Amino acid sequence: MALVVQKFGGTSLADADRIRRVAHRVVETYRAGNDVVVVVSAMGKSTDALISLATEIAEVPHPREMDMLLTAGERISMALVAMAIRAEDVPAVSFTGSQAGILTTADHGRAEILDIRAFRVRESLDEGKVAIVAGFQGVSPDSKDVTTLGRGGSDATAVALAASLEADLCEIYTDVDGVFTADPRVVPTAVKLDEVTFEEMLELANSGAGVLMPRSVEFGIRYNIPIHVRSSFHGGEGTWVKEETMEEPVIRGIAHDDSEAKLTVYGVPDQPGIAAAVFEPMASAGINVDMIVQNVSSRGVTDISFTVPAASALEAVAVAERIADEIGAVGVDLDTDITKISVVGAGMKAESGVAATMFRILSESGVNIEMISTSTIRISCIVRGDDTQAAVEALHASLIGEK
Ligand code: ADP
Ligand code: ASP
Ligand code: MG
Repeated sequence: MALVVQKFGGTSLADADRIRRVAHRVVETYRAGNDVVVVVSAMGKSTDALISLATEIAEVPHPREMDMLLTAGERISMALVAMAIRAEDVPAVSFTGSQAGILTTADHGRAEILDIRAFRVRESLDEGKVAIVAGFQGVSPDSKDVTTLGRGGSDATAVALAASLEADLCEIYTDVDGVFTADPRVVPTAVKLDEVTFEEMLELANSGAGVLMPRSVEFGIRYNIPIHVRSSFHGGEGTWVKEETMEEPVIRGIAHDDSEAKLTVYGVPDQPGIAAAVFEPMASAGINVDMIVQNVSSRGVTDISFTVPAASALEAVAVAERIADEIGAVGVDLDTDITKISVVGAGMKAESGVAATMFRILSESGVNIEMISTSTIRISCIVRGDDTQAAVEALHASLIGEK
């Protein structure tokens, strides 16, 4: 007998039929003699629908009330899944994040899990029930308010709960067969990976591979919880995300991310302290700066370009304009039509020349590179948004090919 955490994403819960199918899968696991904890996302695209409803009411919705609203999505799923499991004569009980003891920071919209006191979940398992927990949400012991964990946060709930309950298995059921060599919706020749290391998955997730939320992978790393990403539509084996894999290919996968924007502060006087003068106020405003490029200075002035999440772009422009004024820069430019393309593989540590190969492939496809950044196992390039498909397909064909 094992303790299994099974997380189901929105598409897998999109309507009554799919909810019944999810319930049936849970019941099969339960009837095979396992303790089962189910983590659910909101149905279909209902989180998006709630966000757009809120922005119809208020241009900038109040963060506390936004979280009150969004947590309702997962609450609907958890109750319906519990009902569907009960309809199969298996006892089931649903819990909100707060009832499940998921304690978070008070940062609305991007709260972090601090601790999990899953007494009620444990109790219900001891009573032979299936426990269903609303993903993506918790409660702050400081503010006493409900919080959400950021988009895709149910993945984090699942892995953190698996760690806290010392589960034997954490399964992430989704609308694709596993983790692919590239987003299968963009690259039709992408193939499912049998396994991927935590380290690679974290880089892929941080580079836009939305199949797992980065924070869920961090929990996997911290508590060494292998994660099985698999399809909710059939029983086939998915992808194991774990500490070590049999093979260590140079390139494991390619990710793209169109959710960043590029800012350029131009005509900046080139003198010591200028970079600090630009980026300290960004950090104080809580703006996450990703890539940075400073151009060669000419006649004592230079340009500094950097990327930020598109959602923070307008705020970043306001901060940058203020700084430009203070340091005597000429102006600020915003460019939202960019994509970051990343190639990731742990084998890169032992292989030189991958960056040069990547640049060559992009140039042969007529794709211009605007910015570059690297880590030991990743190379990322900023390209025009319109070049995304060509860039990802060319890199996939040359670096990974068809398996
Ligand atoms: P869920 O609602 O189940 O959490 P998500 O939409 O959050 O599902 O994540 C699954 C989606 O992630 C897939 O439909 C796919 O388009 C996207 N995706 C992006 N990169 C990858 C990748 N490398 N492998 C698999 N899916 C990916
Ligand atoms: N429903 C939330 C979202 O759409 C959480 C999740 O799906 O994991 O972001
Ligand atoms: Mg998701």
